[in-house]
Amino acid sequence: MIDAYSEDAPASQALFERASGIVPGGVNSPVRAFKSVGGTPRFMVRGEGPWLFDADGRRYVDLVCSWGPLIHGHAHPAVIDAVQQAAARGTSFGAPTPGEVELAEEIVARTAVEQVRLVNSGTEATMSAIRLARGFTGRTKIIKFAGCYHGHVDALLASAGSGVATLGIPDSPGVTGATASETIVLPYNDLAAVEQALTGESVAAIITEAAAGNMGVVAPLPGFNAGLAELAHRHGALFIMDEVMTGFRVSRSGWQGLEPVDADLWTFGKVMGGGLPAAAFGGRREVMQRLAPAGPVYQAGTLSGNPLACAAGLASLSLADDATYAKLDQTAATIAGLATDALAKEGVPHRLNTAGNMFSIFFTAGEVTNYDQAKQQRVEAFKAFFHSMLSQGVYLPPSAFEAWFVSTAIDDEALSRVAEAVGNAAKAAARA
Ligand code: PMP
Repeated sequence: MIDAYSEDAPASQALFERASGIVPGGVNSPVRAFKSVGGTPRFMVRGEGPWLFDADGRRYVDLVCSWGPLIHGHAHPAVIDAVQQAAARGTSFGAPTPGEVELAEEIVARTAVEQVRLVNSGTEATMSAIRLARGFTGRTKIIKFAGCYHGHVDALLASAGSGVATLGIPDSPGVTGATASETIVLPYNDLAAVEQALTGESVAAIITEAAAGNMGVVAPLPGFNAGLAELAHRHGALFIMDEVMTGFRVSRSGWQGLEPVDADLWTFGKVMGGGLPAAAFGGRREVMQRLAPAGPVYQAGTLSGNPLACAAGLASLSLADDATYAKLDQTAATIAGLATDALAKEGVPHRLNTAGNMFSIFFTAGEVTNYDQAKQQRVEAFKAFFHSMLSQGVYLPPSAFEAWFVSTAIDDEALSRVAEAVGNAAKAAARA
């Protein structure tokens, strides 16, 4: 039996109060604030393998994994060693380095991209991919899908998912009407809507999450991604696959390893940085050659290709072999099975959605293939489930609209902690 942690977390609370005085909302990225589940966000001081340790000295099985990057768990010795060695040689040079060539080669070897440019965040990757698509086509408009999140790029903050969905503000103040009007937002998994939009408009690019993970996990229906590629090309637009979340997580390459699609540009982030800030966009040589200094479309970064980030990313990818992905798949299936069995036993309406080893549980009986359906779920039931899991030492994403992420570090001890916790959590959800 687990001794449940108390609901108050005094050390985290004290840090949160200190932070809230000087940092808006007390956090540096909105979903961390527990706004949608309530309670005190836990301030983390250490991670080791499958475990996170908070400021109150409690430990949790981590099913967030830094929102995706940590496929090998926390502080993997090979990753830490690579970062320490890189740090000892200097932290940044503002000049090209061998490490960034090696990371670029690893990305090109694993994926369909022919050329790649390294940046610092997924947001930068999608922002730059869109600029490049506009520069390449000479067109302006972008198509995106409701509930898909591509970072906080102005043009893509229209009806976005992730933190924005959680806070219930579909558009952000500060994004100008002119910018938003250049983005066409369509329902996910609806090819007919795309076809219709493309006939009326001259579109630079269609951007989609390779498999949506920011409204909770919603996989593309069979033929959706391929249909987008075909429609984009028929109408002279580029097709951008956002693999920031799926890339190097759901297979050696990403979603493209499960479902090859004829995209022009891809974006990556998270796993390829091994827990340090690194991201990338890449694609067809002909398109990428338009980028400065090879071509006229400008893009740059003081810390892009940072030696520490490249070392962490390379170490992390070097460890990620077929056995890694088999283990991630198996662990995800085990944890999803534990949670859904417990919920079924308590009669809690729910729906398991998967996309490779990413998954989430929607607290609704109906199917979820788009954002409108995702919003039908009973968030109250998720909140109760979340807090029960937290008090029993399992850290879930603090929002009903997020993917759960596993790592290969999840061992028998961590699994049995989850197995013990889900029964009480399902009971709490049933009462909510
Ligand atoms: N695209 C997708 C699909 C994402 O999931 C995210 C982040 N969750 C981003 C882009 C933005 O990445 P970042 O937070 O590194 O800016």
